[in-house]
Amino acid sequence: ESDSGVLAGDPRMLIDGELQLTAGGATFDVINPATEEVAGVATDGTTDDMARAVDAARRAFDTTEWSRDVEFRYRCLTQLHSALQRDQERLRRIVVTEVGCPVGVTWSHVESPIEEVEHWAEFGRSFQYLEDTGLHQTMGTSSRRLIHYDPVGVVGAITPWNVPFYLNVAETMPALMAGNTVVLKPAQLTPWAGSELGRIVAEETDIPAGVFNVVLSNANEVGAALSADPRVDMITFTGSTATGRAILAAGASTVKRTLLELGGKSAHVVLDDADLTKALPMAATMACIMSGQSCVLPSRILLPRSRYDEGLAILQATMEAFPIGDPWDPAVLQGPQISAGQREKVLGLIADGVASGARVLTGGGVPPQFERGYYVQPTLLADVDPDSRVAQEEIFGPVLSVIPYETEDEAVAIANNSIYGLSGEVSSADEERALAVAMRLRTGSATINGGMYFGLTSPFGGTKQSGLGRRNGAHGFQEYLEIKTLGLPA
Ligand code: ADP
Repeated sequence: ESDSGVLAGDPRMLIDGELQLTAGGATFDVINPATEEVAGVATDGTTDDMARAVDAARRAFDTTEWSRDVEFRYRCLTQLHSALQRDQERLRRIVVTEVGCPVGVTWSHVESPIEEVEHWAEFGRSFQYLEDTGLHQTMGTSSRRLIHYDPVGVVGAITPWNVPFYLNVAETMPALMAGNTVVLKPAQLTPWAGSELGRIVAEETDIPAGVFNVVLSNANEVGAALSADPRVDMITFTGSTATGRAILAAGASTVKRTLLELGGKSAHVVLDDADLTKALPMAATMACIMSGQSCVLPSRILLPRSRYDEGLAILQATMEAFPIGDPWDPAVLQGPQISAGQREKVLGLIADGVASGARVLTGGGVPPQFERGYYVQPTLLADVDPDSRVAQEEIFGPVLSVIPYETEDEAVAIANNSIYGLSGEVSSADEERALAVAMRLRTGSATINGGMYFGLTSPFGGTKQSGLGRRNGAHGFQEYLEIKTLGLPA
């Protein structure tokens, strides 16, 4: 095993403090998407394994001090943070191997989530769990009222494959630090980003048995079992809107709290006074980086008719020169799609767009220069019909759909013509004008002239079918807490 290159992760899951394989020993393959080769295996857990994990988490919540001892939680997460820092380069090799993410752009996969562990440790330690709201008059009597923030209980976390280690951390660390116990079910395409977190928790921290569990499985029904289990109080999920709907329905019978971060089809509204040479190379880069496999990246660009050809030329030049290739090459910015199935889905949506009148200005297919790997060419589609599937469905590929518009009102209407409402972007020489348009977007966040809305200290989430609730910021921490109001005689 060399210091760089493919690395097989840990095949084991973590249940009730024990790293283990499923009874019977079944495994599933982990495929390196850049070579289509089997990089190793993961244990193929069952619904029985899931039931044991939920049982352990329930017991740990109900019978240990975890939910009541914030200083102990702080010490445990601090240990975890240090251990992850020591493990950083191994983690990087795991995510490049199982995701195919270019090694030069792994910051959001590795450094950022490691920092996030420390952030939630500090945030949860200084959070005021008890608030005295003073005297209140109701129906002629006076009482003093306190608000106490309690953990919700057992939290099931179900994560996707696009930024797996980051999302495993983002969905579980605020939950743990708030005093909940957790069962994590990582995506089947990327089990090692989950097993690595489980291994480090088990081997390098004092987190008690049952407080943090990781169940690996190749079967969707194991995630479904977690979302339907009556002993689970809350589900936190990042993934497709279709799966989010199934999880919400599964939790209905026990009225589970549900935090959902689902799909997106973000639009970038370019106003007629915008500096195109500034806004558009970045827009094209954002479409291709991570192979387009991110819910927030704007995949629709709305260009004013008066500057349409000028804008298309800039986008085309950036996409034609985009560095695509071997994820281990530090100069590469776009690797393969994660799987053959995802590549087929992307190619299918491109074909559908063309059939409904879009013009392919660059790309449109599989790059001929690679013999192996699930690559898709950076693809620029012009004259896209805003109602066509390629403009309506989340694509998760390096594909930009460009739609021309005449008036600002029309641009806003096209941007909002979506079941999704995750994020958006507006570019203009006039910041006030851009802000006014951004206010009209029905989304959970928006970028104005490249300004970054995303970060641990600000709420993030979707409107409409892009989700429920928020991650990050104080709002994101309180999602994992119940509010208890206490009345005392004045
Ligand atoms: P994709 O379709 O791209 O694989 P999903 O949103 O279906 O994305 O998957 C995200 C996560 O949801 C994965 O961990 C997957 O195992 C899990 N999952 C899939 N189906 C269900 C379900 N019905 N209930 C709960 N979890 C599920």
